[in-house]
Amino acid sequence: MAKSLAPCPMPHAHKRLMDCHAQWHSMREFYFSPDDFRLHLNAFLQTHRSVSGLLLKHQSGLPGFNEWFTAYSDFAKQDEILKWAKKSRNRIVHEADLELESSCRVRWIGDWRQRTEAVGTFPPRMSAREIVKAIKGSRGLPPFGTLTIERRWVDRALPERELLDATSDAFSKLHNLLRDGHQAADVALCDLGFDEEDCVTSGLEENLDRGALECMENSMRDLVGHFSIADGTHLKESVERIRVDESAARAANEGYGGLLFPEGDAIARVPLLMSVARRVMEKDGVHGTFAFCLRGDEVTSMRLMQFENQGAKHLAFESLADEVESSRADGVLIIGEMWMAVQTEAEKRMGTFILPAREGPDRREGLSVYAVTRDGRYANQVCFVERTPDGKPRCGEPFEVGDADGMNTFLPIKERWKRMEERGQ
Ligand SMILES: [Zn+2]
Ligand SMILES: [Zn+2]
Repeated sequence: MAKSLAPCPMPHAHKRLMDCHAQWHSMREFYFSPDDFRLHLNAFLQTHRSVSGLLLKHQSGLPGFNEWFTAYSDFAKQDEILKWAKKSRNRIVHEADLELESSCRVRWIGDWRQRTEAVGTFPPRMSAREIVKAIKGSRGLPPFGTLTIERRWVDRALPERELLDATSDAFSKLHNLLRDGHQAADVALCDLGFDEEDCVTSGLEENLDRGALECMENSMRDLVGHFSIADGTHLKESVERIRVDESAARAANEGYGGLLFPEGDAIARVPLLMSVARRVMEKDGVHGTFAFCLRGDEVTSMRLMQFENQGAKHLAFESLADEVESSRADGVLIIGEMWMAVQTEAEKRMGTFILPAREGPDRREGLSVYAVTRDGRYANQVCFVERTPDGKPRCGEPFEVGDADGMNTFLPIKERWKRMEERGQ
């Protein structure tokens, strides 16, 4: 869509507002690293404070300045968050850092069957790596698996508000000031920068009177970090969620004869999706792993499941379980490539797989479509994939399997349904 750009009426202040936005994302990015978090928080508060100063300095020529600026400063004098932001900035510049406190909820996932959860308070100065080390020592966890840490930073002067939440609120209020200023100058979109890919733009939301920018709200949704127990490294979780409007999608996919969106619940869809998967595999030579959440006969969402290692795979399915719970899905279907392997004797004794199937010596490539429902039904179809010497895939006939290893991935979801049942949900 073409957008008409006008020169920014208040470029100094507006650029700082954009800096503020970027600094907020840096706070989020370094949420699990105390010193970096503090650094970006301090920068955010100072930049935030500088915006109104710059507006005052360059006010001449700004239409209606007295009106919209006075309305803001009157509001700022009695707004809890803006008062806190101003005081904090003064404190940082003239006295000392804020008194940050953090609490942590910790979840350990060993493998599909071994998991535990605990809430602990750790000194704010402790980095995630140190927390991982301390937990490993005190709880005697085995040296594998992943640790999910949910952290919550607060300032002692504002104990009720988590800090990303408080600062995004402060940002929204300042954003509204500049929006009013641009509107008074009759500028809908100024020329300071607009990039569809990046959320830090000169665009100002028409209505941000309550709540945060969408990008901020999304990144606050789960303030968790995932860490490998073995070496303490921060695992990045990448989830691509796709909301599905099935009737619209079905109409758009008429050309596929409705194959991509067959009718029925998760179980009923397995055979048809297997035939789609075989077609995709023979045509493209690869098949991504996708998860579909269903409520009855309707797909409510689908997501691409990507994982570089076993730990990340556990996380991906744990996150899928979160979505099942929040969307009240009663069926889940997974489609994708898989490696089928045999558990070694040593692994059987430890009750785990040390090497994921894809790295095991006796592995076979296959395609798998499997589904489970909340009322306890499941279906699992597999077909082997053979490769010609030049790598072209040939899919064998699909067959049903019983309680296969692939079903392990459903354990977090089944666990979730069980807990929901207990709560009467
Ligand atoms: Zn502007
Ligand atoms: Zn953003």
